[in-house]
Parts: sequence; C-alpha cells; structure tokens
Amino acid sequence: MRLSQMLFVTLREDPAEAEIPSHKLLLRAGYIRRIGSGIYAYLPLMWRVLKKVSQIVREEMDATGAQECLLPQLQPADLWRESGRWDTYTQAEGIMFAMTDRQQRELGLGPTHEEVITTIAKDMIRSYRQLPLHLYQIQTKFRDEIRPRFGLMRGREFIMKDGYSFHTNEESLKKTYQDMAQAYSNMLRRSGLQFRAVDADSGAIGGSGSQEFMVLAEAGEDEVLYTEDGQYAANVEKAVSMPADVEPSPFATFEKRETPGTETIDKLCKFLKCSPTQVVKNVLYQAVYDNGMTVLVLVSIRGDQDVNQVKLLNELTKLAGNYQAKTVLFLTVPDAEAQRKWAAKSLPLGYMAPDVADDYIAGSKEVNSKFLRLVDRTAVDLTNFVTGSNESGYHVVGANWDREFPLPALVVGVRTAKKGDRAVHNPEQTLQSARGIEVGHIFQLGTKYSQAMGATYTSEQGEEMPFVMGCYGVGVSRLAQSAVEQSYDKDGIIWPVAIAPYHAIISIPNISDAQQVEVAEKLYAELNQSGIETLLDDRDERAGVKFKDADLIGIPYRIVPGRSLKAGKVEVVERATHKSQEILIDEVNSTLKQWIEAAIN
Ligand code: ATP
Ligand code: MG
Repeated sequence: MRLSQMLFVTLREDPAEAEIPSHKLLLRAGYIRRIGSGIYAYLPLMWRVLKKVSQIVREEMDATGAQECLLPQLQPADLWRESGRWDTYTQAEGIMFAMTDRQQRELGLGPTHEEVITTIAKDMIRSYRQLPLHLYQIQTKFRDEIRPRFGLMRGREFIMKDGYSFHTNEESLKKTYQDMAQAYSNMLRRSGLQFRAVDADSGAIGGSGSQEFMVLAEAGEDEVLYTEDGQYAANVEKAVSMPADVEPSPFATFEKRETPGTETIDKLCKFLKCSPTQVVKNVLYQAVYDNGMTVLVLVSIRGDQDVNQVKLLNELTKLAGNYQAKTVLFLTVPDAEAQRKWAAKSLPLGYMAPDVADDYIAGSKEVNSKFLRLVDRTAVDLTNFVTGSNESGYHVVGANWDREFPLPALVVGVRTAKKGDRAVHNPEQTLQSARGIEVGHIFQLGTKYSQAMGATYTSEQGEEMPFVMGCYGVGVSRLAQSAVEQSYDKDGIIWPVAIAPYHAIISIPNISDAQQVEVAEKLYAELNQSGIETLLDDRDERAGVKFKDADLIGIPYRIVPGRSLKAGKVEVVERATHKSQEILIDEVNSTLKQWIEAAIN
C-alpha cells in the first residue's frame, strides 16, 4: 500500500478524550476513530491488526478440533427468558441492548451466545455419539457498558471470539477446558504479550472452575495476586490467602467503654491501644434480590480485614432461595438516602455490634424485617474481642462469642486477600500484586444452561441427560489494544511483529530523487511479492515527518533508500530498538525474512 493513496491521518497532539497510552496512540496514529460513546471505527491499519489477531485465534482454535461458525447477533427475548437471563441482562445489569420489532416482538443484541448455542444443541444433538462438540465464532458483540472507556478496552461494540463446548460428563469437559487453557496461552504468546493465567471468580454460575488470561499492564482494571514461585495466581475477586496472626487481646474482662470519635477501626485501635486483629467490625450491606426483596446484611469480620464484595455476592446468591428469589440484582453499602427507605430509627453507624437489633429495620413487603447476619471465618475464633456497643460513642471490650454475642449461624469466607498475605499453598510465599487486563476467560459451565433450557441428549444407557457445557471467550479487539499498552515508547507504538499491520515501511527521504524512488519501488514490489507486507511512504513530505510517522504507527522495520545508495545499500531501522544497519539492496529481502520469522516464532 502506498501512503499517498491511503486514508492516512496522524495527529501531533494527544487527543483530550484518551486517558491511557494505548488509547492515545491508536487515535493519534490513525488506527481508530471514535464515533460515539464506546463505539469505534476500525480504520484500515487497525483492521489489518484485528485480522491478524483473529487469524492467530482461529488457528489455535482449529488446532484443538473446535469448529468455526457464525451465530446471529439479533437474539429473540424468548431464548433469554428460557434461561432466566432476560430480566437480569436488560434490567438489573442493563448490559444488553434490547428492542422491539414492528410485530412487537422483543429482541436483544447479543452480548454473549450461551442461549443461542444451547438452543442449537438442543435441536441438533440427539445422542451421546455426537459428543463432545465445540463450536466457536469470531464476531462483534454488543454490551451497554455503564462506563465505556479506554477505547477498544471497554467498548459497547467489540470483537470477541466465543466458543461453547458440549459434553457427556465433567471429565470430557475438563479435557477441553485444559486444551483451551493451552490454546489461550498459545494465542497470547504468539501475539507477543506478557500475560498470566489466573484463577477467576465463577460467579453465581458455580461450575468447577474458571481462569482468566491477564495481560500485565499498569492500566489494567483488574488486580492480580500471585506468588513468586509461580504456583499461585488469582484475580483478587477470587484470591485466597492466610490472614495475619491474631495478636493477644489486652482485655480480660467484658466492659463497655466510652470511645468518642472512633467510628473507624484506625481511630478505635489508637484510642484503645489495641490491634485491629482483636476487633470484630460489623459491616452493613444492602442486597436487592430479583423478586424485589431488599435484605439488610450484617457481616462481622476481623478488624484488619476487608469484605470482598464479589465473594459476598456469591454467598448471598446461594441464599436467594431463603427469600423466594433466584439471584441478587444489586449489592451496595447503603448510603443515607438508601437508609431512609427502611431505617426505622437512626443507626449507630461505626458503633454497631453483631447483635444490632432488628427493630432498626422498618420491614415491609419489599424489605425483609430481619438482618441477615454473617460472620467471616477470621472473626469466629476471636476471644476477648472489641466490638461496637450499638450506642454511638461507645464500644465493648473483652467480648466473647456465645457469651455476650451469639455467633451468627452462617459462617462464610468473604475476606479480601491482599498483597503481603501469606500464601495458602506455602506460607513462606507472600502474595504479590500486579495490574492486569482481562483478555480471555475460560469457564466450566456445567449444566446451568442446558438444564434451564431443557437441552438434553440420549445417553449410552438410553437416559435423557442435560449437556455438560464449557464456554471460552477472548476479546480480540481488547487483546489488540493491550499489545500497544504493553509495547510503546515516546515515539509511538511498537507492534509485536506477529500482529503488526505491516512488517515493513519504505520511507523515501526525497521523492524528487529518481534513484531513491527507483530503489524504493523495486524493493516495494519485491518485498510484497515475497510475502513481506510492506508500505511505501511516497508522500511529498520531509524525511523527518515520514520517519516520525513510521515510528508513531509502529511498523517493525523501516527501510530508507538514502545516502547509502551510493554503496548499493539501504538503511534498515528496527522500530523497537531504533538500531540501524546498512544492508545491500539485494539482501534486504532475505534479511527481513529471517528477522520476521525469528520474531514470529
Ligand atoms: P469485564 O470483566 O472486563 O467486563 P467480562 O468478564 O464481562 O469482562 P466476558 O464475558 O468474560 O467479559 O467476555 C470475554 C472477553 O471479552 C473478556 O475476557 C474481554 O477480553 C472481552 N470483553 C468483554 N467485555 C468487553 C468490552 N466491553 N470491550 C472489549 N472487550 C470486552
Ligand atoms: Mg470475564
């Protein structure tokens, strides 16, 4: 491609809308253009990158025996009602774009395809003999993200590879899951990314496991905890660790103490000269279940620990049946405004005890009249502890479970693991923290969807059994931008060779120099012919401008037919290192071939 004929527009200044380096660079270098909130046009250079990433993904998927297909993006609401996700996706989370057609039928724009694929399996897979089966597609997904940001990282329209596998049993599912873990590692390695596979939250779906593939970068929205021995890595939403040891309590007898202005653990411990490990703090949450029922949740946890909302949400989802509900729609820390809806009197916030009375709640049809009391494991074994007194300005010290306070019946593990904690697998290892961009997620679904949608096959014994399923997603457009986030310098993008839009760019310093043009044209034709994807910068611009642009768009090798032509050579500059060499014109092709092959494999 000749730059003179291309839609090639680069910007000198950082666009104001962009916050992170990769987003700025892709806009400045003319790869993408914002059309609306979370909506981007992939311009020709970007589309080439996306096709390369897709091709790597496709090759790795095909190698596992998965089959490519293409499913509809317009999805009937009925399918989502069958699985029970229509209301959650269109109302509670509101992530699905929903519409009504002229016949008054409701439809959604596909954010994911479990419903569509399960209905196909239900129709077409009759017998165990047809299993296992794995279908995948590479397609645009739609999600009405609350906070679209960072360009392609979190768009409302983005490209995903999603695959779904069907099995007769868990063992077969596990095998495909392992194959996918390997395929995903291959994809990311081949795309030139530094990444880590981490244990991930499986959410309310349950199942026996899920892993996320995290590209390591400061701009990542996820926190990853890992150990240096390489034995453990998990998303903080899922991570487990050993809490610090408890310090002995200085309070031998139970008494109430005046503790003015100690509504935080910090202030309280300073005031009482005790360790936060000797405090039971009581944290209030408000859950709204899918039948509209609001439940006030009181979590008692050790003072030096924090509640992990994802873990708490999972516990509350398990308890949905107690409130005649299926799932939790919202989980929040109720602010003053929220409290006004149900608080019968003003709560002793900051001074609540595990037994804070239920009559603080004005129960109603929509509000459960009793606190749901949970105790985290870290608080269960404490003795002679400090906690609230249910009276503002006072705490109690020297308290014990089942003496001063009944131990809540529901013991849960909802503490947040954090950097510096000792690892469970080996207490000599401490957890380290890193930021990650989730580019892939693989999941053992089990029978959640097949059961909900009545998707069964006939087993060898002649029984009707629900499919055991897995699902596997990788964000193609997010992956492409992550590569930039990991690889750039002050001059611009440094594409990994495997996914660069072009391998080489020939920058003609002066287009009125006939010899320069002649050599450039010859190399341009020759390189492209031999499979080295090459751009020709034949614009009537100063050499400096051309070099700057070539650096900005990040093409791995820049070829300059300049002064060295006298010696029958051209200058070849490697983008990543700025290292320059003079190479005989006749050897450019074979040299580049070698370099590219070495970089890709
Ligand atoms: P996130 O937690 O970042 O919102 P998710 O867990 O909802 O993502 P999945 O449903 O697991 O995402 O989708 C599979 C993959 O699709 C993700 O790992 C990610 O790479 C990509 N992806 C998800 N949402 C977006 C988005 N809004 N923009 C771009 N890529 C996305
Ligand atoms: Mg995910």
